[in-house]
Amino acid sequence: MILKKARENYRANSEAKKKSVAKYREEHPDKVSAAKRNWREADPARAKKRVDDWRKANPEHLSIWKKNRRARKMAAHGSHTVIEWENMKAEYNWTCPSCGRSEPWIILTEDHIVPLSENGANYISNIQPLCRSCNSIKGTKTIKFLKDYCYRGIESFQHAYQSRGLKLLSFKELS
Ligand SMILES: [Zn+2]
Repeated sequence: MILKKARENYRANSEAKKKSVAKYREEHPDKVSAAKRNWREADPARAKKRVDDWRKANPEHLSIWKKNRRARKMAAHGSHTVIEWENMKAEYNWTCPSCGRSEPWIILTEDHIVPLSENGANYISNIQPLCRSCNSIKGTKTIKFLKDYCYRGIESFQHAYQSRGLKLLSFKELS
């Protein structure tokens, strides 16, 4: 009987704990994504393994997601050509306008400014180049990044570091 009571208590507490964690996550999306990023950057191999394991365990999830995305793309209004996309990357100086990193250090991917899931069009005017990680952080939000960081050279590297909570060392500190 006592054991049963303890178990019930434990369940009730763990539910409350889960709720407070969920609430915290919802209220502090930046802190959550920064913590996730730190976790990924602390040990990229471990992070990659976690993703690979999850994909292996949930193959149907990924294929449904891909299928849905393809369907939305097919249903989306408008289209653009490879040449338009290549010209756009050149306009952005082959640089991700969110983190300031450039190809070939990152690979630019097509981001829909207004997401396809929000009925965004597939015209080039609704496309911007983002690196994979910025693209996935943006998710299904509507954000248009300015090209400012694409032409700032070293400043954009500083931005890339600082936006990840890293400190850019001076040459003196490095040596
Ligand atoms: Zn980026």
